[in-house]
Amino acid sequence: MARLDNKVAIITGGAKGIGFACAKRFVKEGAKVVVTDVDEEVGQKSIYEFGDSAIFIKQDVSKEADWQNVIKKAEAHFGHIDILLNNAGILSFNNAEEIDEKTWHQVLSVDLDGVMWGVKFGIAAMKENGGSIINLSSIAGLIGISNLYAYNAAKGGVSMLTKSAALYCAEKGYPIRVNSVHPGYVHTPMVDVYPEMRKSLEALHPMGRLAQPDEIANMVLYLASDESSFSTGSEFVVDGGYTAQ
Ligand code: NAD
Repeated sequence: MARLDNKVAIITGGAKGIGFACAKRFVKEGAKVVVTDVDEEVGQKSIYEFGDSAIFIKQDVSKEADWQNVIKKAEAHFGHIDILLNNAGILSFNNAEEIDEKTWHQVLSVDLDGVMWGVKFGIAAMKENGGSIINLSSIAGLIGISNLYAYNAAKGGVSMLTKSAALYCAEKGYPIRVNSVHPGYVHTPMVDVYPEMRKSLEALHPMGRLAQPDEIANMVLYLASDESSFSTGSEFVVDGGYTAQ
């Protein structure tokens, strides 16, 4: 038996980075995956290697109508949904003095609203048969980072929304677990577009390096599988010691 045999997963923002690493890992462990992303071109190419085990659906996670479409198509194609990985996100450098209205709403709409809609529609889809919802937060969801003002607020919101939804499901008797994952900096397109920051970012981690996407996928896989059956409403940190300081 593979660790995700007979399970179907939706992975948002799965065209690249951490989401793509998770899709790869999930398929290797027997799952069928629905990869969604705003980037249709890269998204369509990314699933090619998964054959019949994956479909791609274009989605903007901040739009409620896009969520309805994704759930409908995923259920029509694979019959059921067992795992939802709310991974799509954007990064933006800004601080408490320089933040502008447009940037604030842009970051919050993808990084917080996108997860909020995912949790809402994920619960509706999985409340009968059960499942696991995994929300990608960050170390920025646990500690303050002064030049990531909007991102910091959104990721902190993801941590709390995760706990609230986990308690709600438990109280309702829905067999759904909801947890958040908190990576330190990871080698993905999100971070690799700033090569000039590489050394200073590495120095923030006591282990002296950034994470590889697969190291985050290992944690996500654990939470997606039945091995994490008693974990809900919790924060899973994968940060090379960053927040231990
Ligand atoms: P990435 O930029 O490499 O990939 C993110 C993907 O999300 C892209 O394919 C992008 O097209 C997609 N996306 C962006 N906006 C979207 C939207 N509105 N709807 C649907 N898809 C959208 O990023 P990553 O580094 O793989 O990050 C994945 C998640 O992990 C994010 O939530 C990020 O905040 C979080 N995270 C990343 C790091 C890091 O250092 N890379 C650290 C901590 C947390």
